[in-house]
Amino acid sequence: MKGLVLEAKWDPRPEYALSEWEKQTGKAISGNMVWRHPKLGVRQWEDPKLGPNDVLIAVKACGVCGSDMHFYETDSDGYILYPGLTKFPTILGHEFSGKVVEVGKNVTSLKVGDMVTVEEMIWCGRCIPCRNGFFNHCANLEELGFTIPGAFAEYIAVDEKFCWKIDAIAERFGDEKKAYEVGALTEPSAVSYNAMFNRAGGFKPGHYVSVFGAGPIGLAAIGLAKAAGAGMIVAFEVSPQRRELAKLVGAEYVYDPREVKPSEVMMELSKGEGFNFHVEAAGAPELVLPEVEKALAINAKVTLIGRAAQKVPMYFELFQIRRSQIFGSQGHSCDENFPNVIRMVAAGRLDLSPIITARYKLDDVVQAIDKSRDRSDGKIMVSPS
Ligand SMILES: [Zn+2]
Ligand SMILES: [Zn+2]
Repeated sequence: MKGLVLEAKWDPRPEYALSEWEKQTGKAISGNMVWRHPKLGVRQWEDPKLGPNDVLIAVKACGVCGSDMHFYETDSDGYILYPGLTKFPTILGHEFSGKVVEVGKNVTSLKVGDMVTVEEMIWCGRCIPCRNGFFNHCANLEELGFTIPGAFAEYIAVDEKFCWKIDAIAERFGDEKKAYEVGALTEPSAVSYNAMFNRAGGFKPGHYVSVFGAGPIGLAAIGLAKAAGAGMIVAFEVSPQRRELAKLVGAEYVYDPREVKPSEVMMELSKGEGFNFHVEAAGAPELVLPEVEKALAINAKVTLIGRAAQKVPMYFELFQIRRSQIFGSQGHSCDENFPNVIRMVAAGRLDLSPIITARYKLDDVVQAIDKSRDRSDGKIMVSPS
């Protein structure tokens, strides 16, 4: 079959101490410290092998993620920018949906013809974090499109336990193609849902919500905040196209953070009370945290989704006098993230379809990733089959 393959050279930076585990497994914990000279291309790859618990999925839609862009972009030494767990060569792509075309002999929950979307984090269910219910922190984690073949491909085989049916979305839209595209937005939406409602425990209806960064994750956060009854939503985003999308999905106020002081805006909009719930989806902690600190309502929450390999000074005192808390979040597995996002979409309470701003075929997926580098699109969607 055809797939988008990323090859890169295993060339650890001199200052990076490889662990024994990394040497044994060929997996880099910090990708940007190890993988050099990436090459991306659509080429032949062996067909997926179906295990007894697996389903074979014909991929119908797969979104381009910021991390795909960070495999393509390199620093001045030629290293990839993506800082996380990686093993190459592999097929990229992890935000997807498709049709089940074959099932393994032990599969009971799915049948041929089912429409599904799939978790990207392949947790083992056996390690200590998994046994304690922390699947997003599995010690034996594999990630589709990062360490094992992903979904910028005609087919993918995955264990049925990672699949969630999206037929309710198809019923809502009455259109299979649209259902697959919207279904492929479940993964990034579940990342935001997990950060907001599981890690941070959500907010009360009426609370004021700020979202920093209106890329796909921030846009999903805005849509979710609106559906959950936020009293006011303000978004800060540098791209004018993305600011428009932020309005479309529910932000009442949108600003370019280079033109205003976000903390002043929030204090003014809240008449001095501050904002109750802050979402960091910009991956710019050095810019976001100082502004958030100055606009904490009493008992405010800050949830962190954006990733950045960067330290940032934090003023604890403010979190004490404003009785505020900060939550680190990673991943989308467990805790009803996927099924609840699917329910909201099927009910029409969360409609992120306007954020899909470009569409490509599998043969042109390198162009799609290249296009994502200008950071003006919402979600770029690829249709592999
Ligand atoms: Zn992603
Ligand atoms: Zn595990």
